Amino acid sequence: IVHARSVRKSFGENIILKGIDLSISAGEVVCIIGPSGSGKTTLLRCLNRLETIDSGRVWINGELLGFVEQPDGTLLERRYDDLRRQRQGIGMVFQRFNLFPHMTALENVVEGPWKIKGEQHAAAVARSADLLTSVGLGDRMHFHPAQLSGGQQQRVAIARALAMEPQVMLFDEPTSALDPELVGEVLAVMQDLADSGMTMVVVTHEMSFARTVADRVIFMADGVVVESGSAEQVLSDPQHQRTADFLARVR
Ligand code: ATP
Repeated sequence: IVHARSVRKSFGENIILKGIDLSISAGEVVCIIGPSGSGKTTLLRCLNRLETIDSGRVWINGELLGFVEQPDGTLLERRYDDLRRQRQGIGMVFQRFNLFPHMTALENVVEGPWKIKGEQHAAAVARSADLLTSVGLGDRMHFHPAQLSGGQQQRVAIARALAMEPQVMLFDEPTSALDPELVGEVLAVMQDLADSGMTMVVVTHEMSFARTVADRVIFMADGVVVESGSAEQVLSDPQHQRTADFLARVR
């Protein structure tokens, strides 16, 4: 459902992604781990075109992201509304929750389906309320972000992304801005989502989450995929010294 080929990305002189290949099947949960600065966040942002890529290709659901391939093989940039349609299929949850501060939790979730997808307001409200209930916030729907804990805000952010009915969810270190005691409630929601069959790509430092939830773990360093395999293989029996060194440091 997500397919990346030879993705390269630089910022100025800095080469951040040095040719990434990645294939994620429907229903798969993939955790990306690796040292700070290895390009994990940049890779996620390239998968929904929050960043443009220098070269390579990304397909989502079989469609080339951001471009239309012409019969002669050249690429034509997609029109903005077409890119926006593609992006709707890709939910993103950030390290910082990025909720609208002046809106309640419910209004935050309703906004996308109502204003962007054009759903009927009453239908969007009903569905959003169900989503907030499913992430354990049925009794906090009318609170503003400032009245919610970080863990609750992040659960609203997850509900907000799900309200767009994405085919794949990208998580960028969703628990790293949280106090330790709030991490578990967010991981539990993510585990439920994984169990429900959602396709997920999760950049995380939570090794126990990767071990229990991931179908596959990818270790990245210096802009390349160093190794990829089952959680058991990569976390317990790494084939590369760099992976072993990294795991020794984070344990
Ligand atoms: P972390 O675990 O710390 O979030 P990461 O593996 O996610 O690290 P990235 O955030 O992808 O790494 O960053 C990789 C490199 O790209 C870093 O050196 C960062 O400074 C650089 N970088 C990221 N975004 C930009 C930008 N918009 N402009 C310039 N440099 C950037």
